[in-house]
Amino acid sequence: MGISLSTTAGSISVRQPGGEQNIPGYSKAGIRKSKTSRWRAAALITLNLFMIAHIIQWQIMSKTISPIEPSETMYTLQNGFVNAGFIFFALAILATLIFGRFVCGWGCHILALQDLCGWLLKKMGLHPKPFRSRLLVYVPLIAALYMFVWPVVYRLFTEPREPLIPKFTNHLVTTNFWQTFPSVAVAIPFLLVCGFVTVYFLGQKGFCTYACPYGGFFGLADKFSPGRIRVTPACNQCGHCTATCTSNVLVHAEVKQYGMVVDPGCMKCMDCVSVCPNDALYFGFGKPTLLAPKSAAIKRSYSLTWPEEIVGALVFLASFLAVRGVYALVPFLMALGFASVTTFLTLKLWQLLRARESSLYRFNLKSSGKLRKAGWAFAVFACAWIGLNAHSGWVRYHELLGNVAFQKIHLPDELALAQINPARWLSPGDRENILRGKEHYLAASRTGLFVNSEALPKLAWFEYLLGDAEQSIQLLGEAATYQKGEAKALSLYYRGAILNRLGRYDQAEASLDQALAERQDLILARQEKGESLWQLGRRDEAISAWTDAVQRNPRLALVQNELAGAKQSLGKLEEASSYERRADQFTPNDPLFHWMIGRRLQDLGMNDLAEKHFQQAGDGAGPNEH
Ligand code: SF4
Ligand code: SF4
Repeated sequence: MGISLSTTAGSISVRQPGGEQNIPGYSKAGIRKSKTSRWRAAALITLNLFMIAHIIQWQIMSKTISPIEPSETMYTLQNGFVNAGFIFFALAILATLIFGRFVCGWGCHILALQDLCGWLLKKMGLHPKPFRSRLLVYVPLIAALYMFVWPVVYRLFTEPREPLIPKFTNHLVTTNFWQTFPSVAVAIPFLLVCGFVTVYFLGQKGFCTYACPYGGFFGLADKFSPGRIRVTPACNQCGHCTATCTSNVLVHAEVKQYGMVVDPGCMKCMDCVSVCPNDALYFGFGKPTLLAPKSAAIKRSYSLTWPEEIVGALVFLASFLAVRGVYALVPFLMALGFASVTTFLTLKLWQLLRARESSLYRFNLKSSGKLRKAGWAFAVFACAWIGLNAHSGWVRYHELLGNVAFQKIHLPDELALAQINPARWLSPGDRENILRGKEHYLAASRTGLFVNSEALPKLAWFEYLLGDAEQSIQLLGEAATYQKGEAKALSLYYRGAILNRLGRYDQAEASLDQALAERQDLILARQEKGESLWQLGRRDEAISAWTDAVQRNPRLALVQNELAGAKQSLGKLEEASSYERRADQFTPNDPLFHWMIGRRLQDLGMNDLAEKHFQQAGDGAGPNEH
């Protein structure tokens, strides 16, 4: 592998900011302070205050405008939900097509975070410098296509009869503002990784340059925009603009060559305009980048050689796949930020091991072939980071294979839950698949650093199918403590259903009540709760729970049957036959389904009705074994 980062003592070899080095007479001294940076800081602080106010308003009123986050557009494209995030993103892209990429610089909270981190680092005497890669700059656009375009294309091929975008529905107001956001426990490391760590290692706009998918689209739209930073003949190529630009734009060179800034990384922060000693720069309208005269490309210097670029791209991909979704915790954007840092650290560590001289910022890592204290510290940090990444990859691998095994289970839940120990329905192949899946989940949890709240209920289902209902109940209870919303409600529902099959009706009722407290609309939990109540002798309450369930969904054949059986046992024969007619109307003509209903009715002591379904099941479902 041709890692060949040239090094010199006292300089940061992996960074060679070509702009600054190529500027005639460049010197940081003598550059005037940007006046617009204060305005921009004020805009970004105001933005953050609005975000806080939005959350507080939701907390107080339990209802608010849906999150004004571009990521919400995914739900518009996938489910047809028209939300505030989609409207914001659409308007922002339209505005970018006219005024250029200014939303990033003036209206992005992640950029505000990076600016804050950059400012704090400077206060500590550390001046973030850009890491320049030719290949990794394509990550944001690829990520944007994956996030917003791929789901539509995928649906086009897998569900060709469905409309390209589902029917639009109004989701401008929400009661569950935080539903699509990670928990606070994830948000804190997210802010650390996408703020401090990317800024420190990759430069002031490290996350924007190598990770942000929204920036991928804004950068593309910027190429079409007539609004750009332009220059007058007053420019004398002093280079103050380039030295000030935190987006790594070679301003002086671009305005000389094209008469304007063409780099899509320009966020129209206006710092260069403000610091120009000759007032030669301005924001104005004219030809977009796409129509700029074609001339020899500006020579840029990069931090990596081509072999390093290729190794870096592979490291990025491996790191991203290893951390994305691990423990069901690491979100997409955080995985991109994490992978970009892993790439830098891997290449820098490799260079540190091979070179005789190496430094990072003002720290001398290695001199005359000898590692210095700072070098050891860097090596330990890099090894820990890369090791954590590799460990995540190991856990993710097992989680993934566990998920694959789970997806291969085709036994319907109703059948599996008809009676305790559903082993009779499993083929040897199913059994082997479940055992393999269980092993993978156990390997992931044995070595994992955190609990995977999405894997736990699946492991619980494996245990149930293998006949260990007790273990299943315990795992579902554990899963529920880590989950929220629908996922939590489902874990509690399955737990309640299994407890019912075990005859522990008090515990079942409690679990089902918790499920319903989480999601009122979980009708199956009402049906199961009816069974708990019936078995506990609280028959009126049971009938009320079942009636509530069929009012919400009259097609629930089992519940209609249960109501028929309940009315029969109370001697209300007319009502019973009315429910029975409806039950027959919605019961599929499937022997297994009839057997399942028969089994459940038999458990409830509704033997006449149960016998009818066993007879309809015939031999196919093995009714004689009931
Ligand atoms: S635009 Fe202004 S700051 Fe930039 S090189 Fe020209 S004179 Fe210097
Ligand atoms: S080129 Fe000028 S306006 Fe654009 S990001 Fe750099 S300093 Fe800001």
